[in-house]
Amino acid sequence: MKFTPQKALLTGETLDSLKARLEERKEPTFRAKQILDWVYKKRARSWDAMTNLPKELRTWLDETFVLMPAELVLNKESSDVTDKLLLKLGDNSLIETVVIRVPQEGVGIEGARKTICISTQVGCAMACAFCASGLEGLKRDLLAGEIVAQLLQVCYREDARTPRAKEELASFDNIVVMGMGEPLANYDALIQALTIVNAPWGLGFGARRITISTSGLVPKILKLAEENLSFRLAISLHGATNEIRSKIMPVNKAYPLEKLIPAVRVFNERHGRMITLEFILIEDINDSQDQAFALRDIALDLHAHVNLIPYNTVEGLPWKRPSIERQDDFANILRDADVSVTLRREKGHDIDAACGQLRLKTEKTLA
Ligand code: SAH
Repeated sequence: MKFTPQKALLTGETLDSLKARLEERKEPTFRAKQILDWVYKKRARSWDAMTNLPKELRTWLDETFVLMPAELVLNKESSDVTDKLLLKLGDNSLIETVVIRVPQEGVGIEGARKTICISTQVGCAMACAFCASGLEGLKRDLLAGEIVAQLLQVCYREDARTPRAKEELASFDNIVVMGMGEPLANYDALIQALTIVNAPWGLGFGARRITISTSGLVPKILKLAEENLSFRLAISLHGATNEIRSKIMPVNKAYPLEKLIPAVRVFNERHGRMITLEFILIEDINDSQDQAFALRDIALDLHAHVNLIPYNTVEGLPWKRPSIERQDDFANILRDADVSVTLRREKGHDIDAACGQLRLKTEKTLA
């Protein structure tokens, strides 16, 4: 289940860990910063591109580290604003990274705000009944270097197509950890990766522009509340009562609402930012008025924003999205109580952008 690559992943190293490796070799430690500058600021794609490093050092780096542990195998562009990258890892596992462009008024698509959705595991163990990622269970956790590599791959792609990208460190505006996998089930790699993404010697990307989405692993939510970096938190609620939530999310049996809600409150108190409750609307499962009222009460209690997502159909699963009218009725119950709510007319339906869908299809085709 655990993947141990033959060489260490450079994108999983921190400035300190890289300095330590260089010290072992009696190299000057200022080289560590130079190397990471090549990776994160100048986006070097080969060791030989790192021209201010002695040849010998480059040879050692090549023998010791993998520079890019995720190979781009498919770049799927949709007709709307969502693109999807399918990446192949060292053990041939496939993962997905999604680029969501939100056009801004008065500027072309090049000026759109970009949100990048990254994966943290290959497959998922949470077994949510509606989700493609969990259909085949968990294959393995991603390494920190593989999580960071997804963002670098997006940078490579954006650098080539967007004029503004080259002038900016990260070339995107937000990161959401909402791809394949349960991020808090791969906690240490997640925090290591986001530390690298955040660090000034890394991508220099602000923690407050990073949202971690969880199905509700209560002890890990409490742990996350103690981190010094202030990430944003989203909870995949999808059921506003234990009865409904347990039916579609097995995690609710271990961490029912009476445990989950207080943990979210602790996170809130520590970080003082509005958290988001994600609620997929699935026909005849969780789209009743009673669910809307219960969700309203939870949202008011937690001062949370509610993100309603019409269900994205998954091949092989029976679930459907409710009619537009029913979606609006549900949203209006929340709006009438002044709950901050977005009803996402979802993006990327035509490229299977929901969690795990593209990977599943590609694996089926390749099999
Ligand atoms: N495991 C984490 C993050 C990955 S899932 C979590 O549960 O939050 C990211 C989001 O996509 C979750 O809210 C998940 O419930 C949702 N999702 C999964 N399958 C979906 C589908 N078919 N249509 C719409 N949203 C889906």
